[in-house]
Amino acid sequence: MNRVRCLVFNSALGPLDYRVPEGMVVEPGSVVLAPLGPRQIIGVVWEAERLPGAEVPANKLRPILSVLPVPPLPAPLRRLIEWTADYYLAPLASVARMALSSTGALRGGSTVTEYRLTDKQAERLTPQRAKAIEALHSQQATIRELAELAGVSDAVLRGMVNAGLLEPVLVDSDRPYPPADPAFFGPDLSDDQTVVAAKFVASVHAHEFQPYLLDGVTGSGKTETYFEGVAAALEDGRQVLVLLPEIALTETFLKRFGARFGVTPVTWHSSLKSSERRRAWRAVAMGSAQVIVGARSALFLPFANLGLIIVDEAHEVSFKQDDGVRYNARDVAVMRARFESVPVILASATPALESLQMAESGRYERVILPSRFGGATMPDIHVVDLRVEQPERGHWIAPPLVKALKDRLEKGEQSLLFLNRRGYAPLTLCRTCGYRFQCPNCSAWLVEHRLSRRLACHHCGHEVPTPDACPECHEPDCLVACGPGVERIADEVAAILPEARVALVTSDTLTSPAKAAEFVEMASAKAIDVIVGTQLVTKGYHFPELTLVGVIDADMGLEGGDLRAAERTYQQVAQVAGRAGRGEKPGEVLIQTRHPEAPVIEALASGDRDAFYAAETEARRDAGAPPFGRWAAIIVSSEDEAEARDAARGIGGSAPNLADVMILGPAPAPLSLLRGRYRYRLLINARRSTELQRVIREWLDQLRFPPGVRVAVDIDPYSFV
Ligand SMILES: [Zn+2]
Ligand SMILES: [Zn+2]
Repeated sequence: MNRVRCLVFNSALGPLDYRVPEGMVVEPGSVVLAPLGPRQIIGVVWEAERLPGAEVPANKLRPILSVLPVPPLPAPLRRLIEWTADYYLAPLASVARMALSSTGALRGGSTVTEYRLTDKQAERLTPQRAKAIEALHSQQATIRELAELAGVSDAVLRGMVNAGLLEPVLVDSDRPYPPADPAFFGPDLSDDQTVVAAKFVASVHAHEFQPYLLDGVTGSGKTETYFEGVAAALEDGRQVLVLLPEIALTETFLKRFGARFGVTPVTWHSSLKSSERRRAWRAVAMGSAQVIVGARSALFLPFANLGLIIVDEAHEVSFKQDDGVRYNARDVAVMRARFESVPVILASATPALESLQMAESGRYERVILPSRFGGATMPDIHVVDLRVEQPERGHWIAPPLVKALKDRLEKGEQSLLFLNRRGYAPLTLCRTCGYRFQCPNCSAWLVEHRLSRRLACHHCGHEVPTPDACPECHEPDCLVACGPGVERIADEVAAILPEARVALVTSDTLTSPAKAAEFVEMASAKAIDVIVGTQLVTKGYHFPELTLVGVIDADMGLEGGDLRAAERTYQQVAQVAGRAGRGEKPGEVLIQTRHPEAPVIEALASGDRDAFYAAETEARRDAGAPPFGRWAAIIVSSEDEAEARDAARGIGGSAPNLADVMILGPAPAPLSLLRGRYRYRLLINARRSTELQRVIREWLDQLRFPPGVRVAVDIDPYSFV
């Protein structure tokens, strides 16, 4: 065969055929460089019978230029790419691009020159050089990366190389990672854990597809049990993928992994340096990276020899990607395990209703860890009715919670206050003229961040310094903060307990893995009395001295555009409640609410998880919502409002008339302006049995839109903003 079909990295183009020059060897999955007009483009050789293509006569075919020096994408990964594109209605090329996520890696093995500080002492340093020396202590990276780390120009660092302050080090880009030792530190498991771990071990050795729902309360030791599955894969010489919902959680996980296996695993997330990315990608593709811990994008790495997939905190909404290819990493992970014929473990203390349903129907095997490890008991949970127990005016912590905080401080125990809102206040307005600060690009208020003295949009990143006077009436000192954010709660704690040491934990303060590690260390060393945090603190942490958890506003999650609001509230509050009393001392949880009678709050208060899931299941069944029915969203956007509206109406007007498909909208999206684009939405609700993707594809394929209009489809959407 001297002609091949290639998937090329241009989502506007379909697959293209090329000629294979004499002497060149390609196979399905080969990554190649091919001509496209006057340019060169990266492509992947694909099975021609699986991709529709135009029949170009052989004498018109252009030759492939070269095969890139990486292993061909394995067949299970090619099937996963096809499945993802088909299920989420995404261009095949956009999905394939996620698998080739390091351009450096495609250039093959090489060496790279990195630099590090020498011992040489300079007599006089320019401020720039002093700044670099301060920042680059114990760092080694390329000039470009060091410049970024130090916040100085490349030229400053080149000057320092010439002055002998920095020295070059030649590094093999593909140097191997230290091997993990499955027997480094044998586990000490409870009887329950032993049973569960044995199941995972047997399943890994069997090399067969088997999805598990690992369901255990917080603190029950889920990680220890799946670590035995990891050990089994290591013994078999196979690779393991562990997906975590947040990079901030990675640090704690790496520590636990290191204690069990003697080394830290290879990490994969968006803030890796390009050299780290390239090294990790190649090690995954060559099969030498044994265990990869990463964010959702790690799911598409080209594993050579996968043996097990773990999705930890599998209920987390951050596994859902909401731009580009809109996929849910939890669900794609199960598909990947199927194509690879390996087990997959979805671990959670508060599983998604969809996952429980899969277990109910027998498609997933549910394994349960019923109790806390080491005899710790579940915390006592109490509801604080804010209509009765009112906080002081302009305050948010009600008297019972104030009392409990004081009590813990006296006893030398830790407390945690949870409010899922970053910044100081969600709305700032002028007392004199009523002016409200709004984002110019989005239909959203600007959130005040008092620590950094700015007003910021949490949707597009637009920021302005907080002004001293009102921009409308120019009155000075007239701006009022409305509502609480975590920064304001931290201030309130400082006022109530002036002697308490307060830590603020949000994505604004825990900006790097190092900062996260520092926080964990301080909290563990009892150098913190009160932690005030967003959802970042709801999971993964284990502080034995933490005995009080206060939920500032349990009703907040019930508002807004979350299609699974009650479930999300339940999960978030149950997760944060699970932080209390993980050591020997019992924990207490106070939940502040204005709706103590809401089923989700009642279920939380009584600790009756089954009752909550039963009620939620019925509500979903009645509404035809997942897992009993299906949802999809179509989002139409344009910088021109009329254009967006007309396009949305065009879609609505040509909607298929099917008995088992209900179409709501078009209507302006709750966030009707986002990043300068006007947005309209349609929500589609269909029966489980409907071929929803085919319906939407046929519906949209017959329509044409002006070039400024973007039409995005979200299958199984989570948020509806
Ligand atoms: Zn004003
Ligand atoms: Zn904005």
